[in-house]
Amino acid sequence: MEVMSVSVSSPVFRASQSRVFDYCVPIRKKTVIDRKFAFNCTNCSSLEVAADKPELLTNLVKDVDWPSPTDEIPFWKRKFHTRDVNPEIPVNKEKDSDPLHVIHVTAEMAPIAKVGGLGDVVTGLARACLLRGHKVDIMLPFYECIKKDDIQELSLLSTYSSYFDGNWIQTNAYSGLVSDIPVILIEPMNQFFKGEDVYGGSYNELEAYLFFSRACLEWMQVTGTQPDIIHVHEWQTGALPLLYWDMYCYLSLHKPRIVLTIHNMEHYGECRQEQLNKCGLDGSLYATIDKAIDDRTIGHNPERLSLLKGAIVYSNSVVTVSPTYLQETLCSGWLASALITNRDKYHGILNGIDTVMWNPASVAFLPANYHAQNTDGKKVCKQYLQRGLGLAFEGRAPLVVCISRLVAQKGLHLIKHAISHIEKHGGQMIVLGKAPDGRVHSEFEALANLHNKGSTIRILLMYSEELSHMLYAGADMVLVPSIYEPCGLAQMIGMRYGSVPIVRKTGGLADTVFDMDDQSQPEMANGFVFEGIDEASLNWALDRAFFYYKEKPIEWANIVQKVMQIDNSWNKTASKYIDVYNSIRVRW
Ligand code: ADP
Repeated sequence: MEVMSVSVSSPVFRASQSRVFDYCVPIRKKTVIDRKFAFNCTNCSSLEVAADKPELLTNLVKDVDWPSPTDEIPFWKRKFHTRDVNPEIPVNKEKDSDPLHVIHVTAEMAPIAKVGGLGDVVTGLARACLLRGHKVDIMLPFYECIKKDDIQELSLLSTYSSYFDGNWIQTNAYSGLVSDIPVILIEPMNQFFKGEDVYGGSYNELEAYLFFSRACLEWMQVTGTQPDIIHVHEWQTGALPLLYWDMYCYLSLHKPRIVLTIHNMEHYGECRQEQLNKCGLDGSLYATIDKAIDDRTIGHNPERLSLLKGAIVYSNSVVTVSPTYLQETLCSGWLASALITNRDKYHGILNGIDTVMWNPASVAFLPANYHAQNTDGKKVCKQYLQRGLGLAFEGRAPLVVCISRLVAQKGLHLIKHAISHIEKHGGQMIVLGKAPDGRVHSEFEALANLHNKGSTIRILLMYSEELSHMLYAGADMVLVPSIYEPCGLAQMIGMRYGSVPIVRKTGGLADTVFDMDDQSQPEMANGFVFEGIDEASLNWALDRAFFYYKEKPIEWANIVQKVMQIDNSWNKTASKYIDVYNSIRVRW
């Protein structure tokens, strides 16, 4: 087999004749090999990798440009060649016979406007449906902070006006492509969505999303766009189903049906009646138990509405992001009664991950790429991290990462405890997280000041997509000790990158990680699971993981290979969404 193609990759590599790494054999025809840079192998799961035929492996030459903690530009901020030029997209994927048109209306989309899993899910699901032959668009606010470099073919589509609080606000709609997915960006000519971050600008967030929900429908109305499905996500777009069924379907939109996905029940979109009035609805009409009233406020002054509850009531179908979380939400929380009432249209569909974006065999941010059949590159990634962050270069020390929003849900006390426990037991740990709450930020800052001078722990209080890839790749284990977790993507991404998950048994974590020592289903075993929310429970899982890592290297290598081969992609679950879409679509 000839060496056929190599994609140009990050300048963190320099080719030289001095180091030889075994690599996989990409399956495409030979194109240009840029020897100025080193390479990424261009594929992974579908590769014809010949680990058993070393003479056929590509012996490409490279010399990693090793980072140091004293670098002027930290290694995760270096210029990377490009984002996800990824040929893994299966060209001949079977198409569904009866294509739908789906428009997602969302506050987040990865990678241009991502804060957490919502952004990943929208992008991954959209791509999976596109690949199956459906037409998909994603509508999101044109945040000032949006990463414009990642949008191709950005152009002004139309200018129109949308109502808000007694005025018609001039609004631009732009179209573009984000990693081949069509997007429509809504930009009002007012202060909404201005600022350095997706959330937390100096405008009123609730009002901005009320405006956005109506502006998306208004755009469909003025352009005559009638998708089969409008797919809304979270409370931010929760007013849209109300606006659709009580306003726009009396105008000219008739065809669309509405799907709501609830990614996290904790955020329910508290809204006063007079605030809902601002998008043109009569808020008082929704203040009933069977519509949008927040049940907990009944009898109080003022009684409040919940946009999420309204969306549950008004959507044709409601989905949450894992089967276990569905059960949990029917049993606890104040929205349980609304969900039980609407049980017939409530589904639990496990999220997938976008295996195009999350691909250790091709992603440009890694100092070396790898795949399940040859994980040598993973060792390079670990060393790269250790060197770049000034951790002891110690191959046998298990490296645990925790990549998470630092909020109570994520088990903050367990993350803090893990830091000291791991340090005490000869491991290394890197926490990458952002804390929206100033008090939590200060607590972790104090921990960072305490630990970051040593050579075993790094606490990095920031958001970096690029660094997150490097951490998932360089880690031996990924820790997700959530108190509750609707689905969780970190454990799935970790597995894709060969990092063994250590998780608390809750929500989607319980649906995706199965304990190595659980004899009842050994074929499913893929990580370490604990149940309690106490430190001893966590210790038990961590200690067992460390024991396997240190004392059973062959078993460990097998686990790494096994978790990399688990299919947590959208290929597996997108069909369930398509079934939901088809069950409610109408033909005109
Ligand atoms: P949630 O949606 O509750 O934040 P998920 O596990 O579903 O949790 O998804 C989190 C996503 O956000 C993952 O892709 C994770 O890698 C990413 N992420 C979280 N914090 C950071 C951070 N500080 N920097 C980069 N990525 C992050």
